[in-house]
Amino acid sequence: MDQLKISNSFVLLIFACTFSTFGFGWSKRIACEIQHDGKIYNTSAHPVSDKINVHLVPHTHDDVGWLKTVDQYYVGSNNSIQVAAVQYILDSVISALQADPNRKFIYVEQAFFQRWWRQQNSATKRIVRKLVDGGQLEFINGGWCMHDEATTHYIDMIDQMTLGHRYIKKQFGKVPRIGWQIDPFGHSAVQAYLLGAEVGFDAVFFARADYQDVLQRRKDRTMEAIWRGSKSFGPSAQIFAGVLANHYEPPDGFNFDIDSTNPPVQDDPELFDYNLEERVDLFVQRALEQAKEFRTNHLMWTMGDDFAYEYANTWFKQLDKLVHYVNKDGRVNTFYSTPSFYVDMKAASNETWPLKLNDYFPYASSANGYWTGYFTSRPALKGYVRKLSAYLQVARQLEFFVGRKVRGPNTDSLEEALAVLQHHDGVSGTEQQHVADDYAKRLYISSIESEDLVNLALQHIASGRFSMNHTPHLEMVTSQVSSQSKATLRAGLNFQQCPSSNISYCPQSEADLSGKTLAVIAYNPLGWERKEIVRITVSDYKVDVFDSSGNLIPSQIIPVSQASRKLREQHLKSIRKPAVSDESIFELLFECSTPPLGYSTYYVKPSQNDSYSSEYTLIQENNENHDVYLQSNSAQYILSSSSRLLDRVKLKDGVEVSLRQSYCWYNGSDGNTEETRGQASGAYVFRPNSSSCFPLTDNIKLSSVKGSLVEEVHQQLSSWLSQVLRTYKGSDHAEVEFTVGPIPIDDNLGKEIVTKFSSDLESHKTFYTDSNGRDFIKRVRDYRSDWELEVHEEVAGNYYPLNSGIYLSDNSIDFSILVDRSMGGSSVTDGELELMLHRRLLYDDGKGVAEALNETTCMGDDFSTCEGLVVRGTFLLDVHSTNESSFSRRNLIQRKLFPLQLVFSVSNDEDGWLSVSEYSAMKTGYQLPPNVALITLQEQHDSNLLLRLGHLFENDEDETWSSVAIVDLQDIFAYRKIKHVEELSLTANQRKCEMKAKHWQIENDDVQPGSYIRSVGFVGDGYQIELRPMEIRTFSVFLE
Ligand SMILES: [Zn+2]
Repeated sequence: MDQLKISNSFVLLIFACTFSTFGFGWSKRIACEIQHDGKIYNTSAHPVSDKINVHLVPHTHDDVGWLKTVDQYYVGSNNSIQVAAVQYILDSVISALQADPNRKFIYVEQAFFQRWWRQQNSATKRIVRKLVDGGQLEFINGGWCMHDEATTHYIDMIDQMTLGHRYIKKQFGKVPRIGWQIDPFGHSAVQAYLLGAEVGFDAVFFARADYQDVLQRRKDRTMEAIWRGSKSFGPSAQIFAGVLANHYEPPDGFNFDIDSTNPPVQDDPELFDYNLEERVDLFVQRALEQAKEFRTNHLMWTMGDDFAYEYANTWFKQLDKLVHYVNKDGRVNTFYSTPSFYVDMKAASNETWPLKLNDYFPYASSANGYWTGYFTSRPALKGYVRKLSAYLQVARQLEFFVGRKVRGPNTDSLEEALAVLQHHDGVSGTEQQHVADDYAKRLYISSIESEDLVNLALQHIASGRFSMNHTPHLEMVTSQVSSQSKATLRAGLNFQQCPSSNISYCPQSEADLSGKTLAVIAYNPLGWERKEIVRITVSDYKVDVFDSSGNLIPSQIIPVSQASRKLREQHLKSIRKPAVSDESIFELLFECSTPPLGYSTYYVKPSQNDSYSSEYTLIQENNENHDVYLQSNSAQYILSSSSRLLDRVKLKDGVEVSLRQSYCWYNGSDGNTEETRGQASGAYVFRPNSSSCFPLTDNIKLSSVKGSLVEEVHQQLSSWLSQVLRTYKGSDHAEVEFTVGPIPIDDNLGKEIVTKFSSDLESHKTFYTDSNGRDFIKRVRDYRSDWELEVHEEVAGNYYPLNSGIYLSDNSIDFSILVDRSMGGSSVTDGELELMLHRRLLYDDGKGVAEALNETTCMGDDFSTCEGLVVRGTFLLDVHSTNESSFSRRNLIQRKLFPLQLVFSVSNDEDGWLSVSEYSAMKTGYQLPPNVALITLQEQHDSNLLLRLGHLFENDEDETWSSVAIVDLQDIFAYRKIKHVEELSLTANQRKCEMKAKHWQIENDDVQPGSYIRSVGFVGDGYQIELRPMEIRTFSVFLE
């Protein structure tokens, strides 16, 4: 129906154009008159130097899932929730642009555009290419989605932007110029310098910044500034950053979407309600108001909204009239434009701009509306995203080792699913429940394909069926099984993995081993050698573990803990899986030594007699009243007899640091009482009823395990809250495994569960949190560097997003907590750190999602028995002297981010089973320097590889490791010879040497030009490159 209406209306449009060339950076401007219903409108205006110029930017904001799923939004189903259909938006915009060559439109979300593009015939594709070439349709931002900036990891942000940019380059040969992060709830430093400047964007625009900040900026005319997000890069990675004037909507009175109540421009005196002068007057008034708050005589008006332009003609017909009549009036000047052209005009002015450092977190939209709850919302989904994000990197590496295949399993579907999840209503946890379910389903389905790939690739390498010095091909493996159905293929595999190990469930490793051997292949995706203790479930405690040379190695057996058993039982019941009797399930631990980018194999065998070698350690109840000690490599973690929780840490030099753990809950506001003035705590907003955190730490039941590889204490805090605190042989840190839920709500109170660690460090209100897992940013409680903060929320207003972690320092000792997924954290009291682990809330917070954040798991035959979601995760505690801490922290972050990937195979015939039991893709004996990480290793097409390497330290972060690192790229490829290397932009869509940043004049800038040197090209012979602090370099590597 909609399409029909559109074509009918266009019958009435007649246009006549002549082409001529003007300046202003547009290659071609078109003098054009468009006729609607017999009237002729001149839409060909261009900037005028002595007037206020209003850039009309037609746009639509299309969420890649939120109240509806991404596919529902695309096709336009489920409209009872929200009327939105992206396919018709694109259909109707394309027609409307064809009708007048002066009209323009920007499009952002490639997840939608690519769905649409696939469905178009070649004639439509030709039309669209012409519109893109002519500058009428411009892709900006251009990622798969508009990613969130708080709960996303920088590697995922890079991946999802690269995915979109790659398509735009391939289909249109275009490179997006503008960052368009209009809706995310706060903006990160990494967005500015990495996903902005290093991508090659000229500017980034957004709508949401703290209401106090925006008030000040409007007054100071600092809505637009030059943003230097990186301490290490300074002006070498700065970007023009603009807070939009009217959220991302048109100024009040100028919304022309099909369901808008704003009046159209009625210019026909024959009809009633003629309002031309009135409409022009209001336009001029709005422009003059905005001009008071912005610098230069160029203003941008965002002419669009959420899912706008489903019927594009309602907009364009009115905008044509406005361009015509406002220019005829002459008080201000207006024309169709794009953010790129707007930024060109800003750069062409002689204006000087204010400087912005750090980031735009946290974001408050009102005194009690701090959008800091979503840092933790849906912790299980956040954990799943992080886990699969690491898994994608593993799968890509293996895909490259054995040769990428177009048919058969590849990593494309997981890449795409993870890209969808980066959306600002995806991993952020601010979507409706049915959408979160859809996201999880997408992740699960695509992970199965990558799992097949990983199994096949490892099986292929381990079987020794390819010679190490020629290009191996997975095709060989899959062609052998191509006649089999996919299900048979999966069942027939020798190699299997355990995606449910988080609930201590692994049918592969729990197999009956009588007369058999279990091979455990530990794959290490890091570019460094690695020694680590791994943990698997087995069904017999009488086992021996051997390395690949046949040496018996030390191992430890622990019965599965009470909390794990409960979790396992519950989840197996919900998926109706039969399991080995839980009483006979044990955890087997042993130490793995793995080469970089490769694997080692370990063999678990049942003992022939009663003299098995695994050390059996019982979980023993601790009822006595004395302190409990856990020994790590160099420190002792001490639990007090009274609190039965961690109390202090004794470091190797005898220094004792007080470190008292507690659990407590904030009562999420219901928003209805007078005191709370209407703001409830919900999916976006964290709004505790008061600053009190109510304790959850009475009557803790304690038991402990002591063995030669791991020491643990198990703490049962209540029927729904438990944790394990453990130390591993050879490591300095301690690990906390928490199990939280179902959070009780029978008292009708929403709860936000927090763990706190109080130390005696004199932190002077200061703490540090990471930006998207990359830089650490200094935070000061109740303080913002850009304005005088009025404090209304003592707790929520000091929460920041964590992706790697949070730390305190007193310049002698650092205390860090490193997390396994994104979550919120703070230091609300000096010397103290807190993490918000889980939230269960009973009211919607009124920010759009229209649901309370009350996640449940449903079981039973018809899934009608539901209880609150249980969340399990881990975080690390690391206490070091300040001069040693950053190395330890960065190293642990990498290990936590990329855990060893375990793959299992059971056989009763050892001969010729695994002929290659150890493998590294790197040159023998080579590993990356400790300050360099492999970020991407992804085969693009035959013998072409996308390679990203990143320096892990900031300027001045570490005395030793904040130095220039050198890597010879050839050393990374033991079995392949490099033919040619080209350096690219961060999203790999342009050559680095051709990138040019715009020049901006900055107020009071005391940075000396040239004081921030950046690495470029190669050093020495061959393929040696340098990496300076925080640099990520992207290469296209062509291999022989
Ligand atoms: Zn949005």
